Amino acid sequence: MTDFRVGFGYDSHRFVPGRQLVVGGVVVPYHLGLKAHSDGDVLLHAVCDSLLGAAGLKDIGTCFPDTDERWKDADSAALLADIVSDVEKEGWKVNNLDCTLVLEEPKIKPYVDPIAGRLSELLNIGRERISVKAKTNEKMGFTGSGEGVAAFCVVTIVK
Ligand code: MG
Repeated sequence: MTDFRVGFGYDSHRFVPGRQLVVGGVVVPYHLGLKAHSDGDVLLHAVCDSLLGAAGLKDIGTCFPDTDERWKDADSAALLADIVSDVEKEGWKVNNLDCTLVLEEPKIKPYVDPIAGRLSELLNIGRERISVKAKTNEKMGFTGSGEGVAAFCVVTIVK
């Protein structure tokens, strides 16, 4: 019998000047970036937590504490690669990933394919098993005001 798990991930970060905007492992040209100890890749952080949750492992903040200088400006793609490797060591394989970004600006649509391609490499699964969506929050709340970005995702893993 196949063992099957679902994991949910959420993350948010605040826009600040003077940083590069990195979303889903892809640099998105914009005049603001995301404040964080790491590179602030809000989408990859949500993906990390969904995988850790599905596999019953500890959360991203426990694995890579923001008080640790080792993770200062860390490449979140490298953190995700580490987590994928840990999850695979437990005998799991990622089955599919569905994610939604919430932000008013910049428009993510032109970057959806590169982001999905990057996620496909990082998760060792086909592009057709990945969905990346982006939407505005109709000007409501911290995402709607342009204060920051939120990312939500659901992942399934199988053994
Ligand atoms: Mg984060």
